[in-house]
Formats: sequence, C-alpha cells, structure tokens
Amino acid sequence: MKIPFLDLKSQYQTIKSEIDSAIAKIFDNTAFVGGEIVEEFNQQFATFISAKHALGVGNGTDALIIALKVLGIKKGDKVIVPANSFIATSEAVSSVGAEVIFVDCDPDYYTIDIQKIRELLEREKQIKAIIPVHLYGQPADMESIMDLAKDYNLFVIEDCAQAHGAKINGKNIGTFGDISSFSFYPGKNLGAYGDGGSLVTNSSEYYKKAKMYANHGRIEKYNHEFEGINSRLDAIQAAILNVKIKYLEKWNKSRNRVAEKYNELLNNCSKIELPLIKDGNYSVYHLFVVRAQNRENLITYLNNNGIATGIHYPIGLPFLNAYKYKNHKSSDFPVTYNYQDKLLSLPIFPEMTDVQIEYVCKSIRDFYLNY
Ligand SMILES: *Cc1c(COP(=O)(O)O)cnc(C)c1O
Repeated sequence: MKIPFLDLKSQYQTIKSEIDSAIAKIFDNTAFVGGEIVEEFNQQFATFISAKHALGVGNGTDALIIALKVLGIKKGDKVIVPANSFIATSEAVSSVGAEVIFVDCDPDYYTIDIQKIRELLEREKQIKAIIPVHLYGQPADMESIMDLAKDYNLFVIEDCAQAHGAKINGKNIGTFGDISSFSFYPGKNLGAYGDGGSLVTNSSEYYKKAKMYANHGRIEKYNHEFEGINSRLDAIQAAILNVKIKYLEKWNKSRNRVAEKYNELLNNCSKIELPLIKDGNYSVYHLFVVRAQNRENLITYLNNNGIATGIHYPIGLPFLNAYKYKNHKSSDFPVTYNYQDKLLSLPIFPEMTDVQIEYVCKSIRDFYLNY
C-alpha cells in the first residue's frame, strides 16, 4: 500500500468542479490582483476566525514581517520565538532588524515553554514582543502568554500558520494577541494552490497600517505615505480559498478523527510517545508528531513499505547554521535538542481512511517487533 504524507490530489478531486468554475470566473473578470474576490475571502476568513479584520497577503512569512513592522519592531529590539518552529518565525524578526531570542519548548505539548519565558523576561531587557507558534495545530498557552505580555508590556504576534481553526476553551487562536499571521501554503490546513497568507487583527489601526504597508505604503494610486512592500493575495488564490474555507471545519474534524485512531492503535506501543493535547485545547492536527525510538531505521522501514513520513524539525532553530553566530549550546535548549533526533511526523490528511491508518500503525508495530 502507498500512503502519501498528505494527499492534495484526492482533496482536489472532491471539490474539482467548484474550484474549476471559481478559477474560470477570475479569467472572465481579469481582476487578477485585489478586487471583489479577494475582499470576499478576507471577509470570510475574518468571520471564520471571529476577528474584526483579515488582510490577504503574499504568504505567511510576509504576514509576520508586516505585523512586526506595524508594531514598530526595529533594530535594537528583541523578540522571543520558540526554538522549535519553522525558520519563517525567526527569519521575520531578523528581517526587520530586530534580534531573535529563542526559548525552549514544553516537553509535553511542544509549544513554547511559559516558565522559561518568565525567567528570560526577568534578566533580558529590550524585549518588545513575543511570537508564540501554535505548533503542529495545537494552541500555545495563550492565557499565560497574554498575562506575561501585560506584566512586561510586550506585543504578541500569534504565528497561526499551522493552526487555522484551533481553539482554546472555545476561543479561536488568532484572536488573543495584537496581530496574527496565517499561511495558505498548499500543505497547510487551509491551503491555496500557490503561496498566500493573511494578517488578522481586531485593531482597526493596525489593520489600516498593515494594508498600506503591504501595498507600497500607499493611500491611493501613486500617493504613498511611507515606503512599504508589495505583498498581496492574488485573486486566483482567493477564489480557491473561498471554496476551500467552506470545508475547513469538516477537514479539521476529520484530522481529529485520524489523530484519535492513531492514539487508539498506537496507545500501548512502548517505543512511541504520542502527542499530548493540553486540557481545553482543540488541536487541528496540522501534523501528527510522535517521538520514536530508533527513528532513522523506522523511517527507512516505513518508506520501504510505501509510507511517507516527515520530521518537524530535524534541526532546532538555534542549531541551524543560519544562527551559528549566536553560539548556542545544546544545553541552552535541552528539550528541543533532545527531541530533534526523535520527532517523527506520521501521514495525516482529512481524506485518510481507516484502512490507511491501520496499515501505518501495523507497519510501526511490525518494525519494533523485528528490530
Ligand atoms: C508555513 C509556516 C510559516 C510560513 O508560511 P509561508 O506561507 O510558507 O511563508 C510560518 N510559520 C510557521 C510555523 C509555518 O509552519
């Protein structure tokens, strides 16, 4: 049996006629950048997240950069980011000239460790903002983070690239911090058929600034208040997202079904640590990340049996060559360091069948029986 890591083709088959006619309409209208379709999506997305404003931008990385710019983060400022994330989170901080400060992850939930943030804030001055990541689809501990932000006067930007629709006690992620960023990279829970992103906020002031910044700082055509960048969601992607967003809740539920099945079938496998979800959290399982003994051999075995896997992430951010200049030691981020050799992402996608899940779990068990 062949099990892909995710299956965008089979998802497309389920919505093909709607997608095809939505795209055809764009060619008829020839409004390729901006316009009604993009506005329609912004509205739909804001409603989905229960936020006041959503601004379609070029990608999720740009949404982070624009958020930092809007909040006035600049050279001399320091920004806290989790040690285990995709590089976009930290890259955005450096790209506005500020300094990245890594914090280790929680050993149970993989998201940023609150206690370690607290300790850091006691000794480090010049920290202006924190970017929690709702990693693998699970919300970071936003209540504690917002308390810290209040005590230390910090801005909070939520990196929601992996968690469209995740909730904490019924409240949507993306509505806790000052500004939130989302990615619509094809593999995300809500994915376009190209690059795309959204900046979400309840502040009309931040929204207005972000909208200008993402469009050359302009007030109107050829009248520019300040220098910005060009980062806009294009109409073809918006048309696709307008169709796909209607299915997002259903797809997120289906990802939860897959996760439940994995938990059930791998529950008493002593060589695998299953992901834990914090009380009150609704995860949207962008990824299903376990910690596996003898990982490299397990990956080879699964791949040989037709099962695709991933690692998120094989090298913790502080240990990448990109951050060599910070001279971090493994003991600075013990959890991230210890986990990078164990983390294993199993296939998860809404269309995954019970038969496929059973095959993955049986293959994992067979491997450990024999090795
Ligand atoms: C995907 C991702 C991003 C970046 O999104 P792009 O649209 O690819 O720029 C940022 N942060 C995290 C955690 C991501 O997973």
